[in-house]
Amino acid sequence: MSLQIHVLPAGPIETNAYLLIDSSRGEAVLIDAPGDVWKQVSPLLAAAKCCLVELWLTHGHWDHMQGVAEVVAATGARVSAHLDDRILLETPGVMEVFLPSSIRLAAVRTDRWLADGDRFEALGLTWEARHVPGHCPGSLLFWCEEKGVAFCGDAIFKGGVGRTDFPGGSMVVLDKAIRARIYTLPSDTLLYPGHGEDTTVVAERAGSPFVRG
Ligand SMILES: [Zn+2]
Repeated sequence: MSLQIHVLPAGPIETNAYLLIDSSRGEAVLIDAPGDVWKQVSPLLAAAKCCLVELWLTHGHWDHMQGVAEVVAATGARVSAHLDDRILLETPGVMEVFLPSSIRLAAVRTDRWLADGDRFEALGLTWEARHVPGHCPGSLLFWCEEKGVAFCGDAIFKGGVGRTDFPGGSMVVLDKAIRARIYTLPSDTLLYPGHGEDTTVVAERAGSPFVRG
């Protein structure tokens, strides 16, 4: 049985979570956890008779981590993130000052810190984490060469790149990271961003108005 990829926009600003399901193994991985995402994840896991074993965070911004506590409480999934976002994840109150007072953020306990170039197995596939800072200090992408897919968070979008005007952001750093760690992926790699539609390496390298390949 092949890998199923579910795109699940969720939370107050339509943040894309990605649920990867391999029903032949009975296992699933979730990439990012916007608020309320569990409402969509839970029935999909039940229908596929799968357990959520891993939760990978592309970065520590509130709209990607608001739903982590609910998902972990329900599943016990192992949480992975980059160490440079430790402050955002462990003391998310630092982000609440930018948000409506109705939004409360629970601290995230990370089980595994990933660094650039780390390779690991999940769902019977080999994955590589790549560090793509600039939008957020601890931005990661998760690449599976065998499937030709990369989940990029807010580093890059279809026809665009991530905002760099948040604390810790830098366009110089983001430009360098995109060239070194996204444009160097195989050109037909499908890029799944944290908001909006998917794109490809070749399309962005040729057509991005921000970072020309
Ligand atoms: Zn972000």
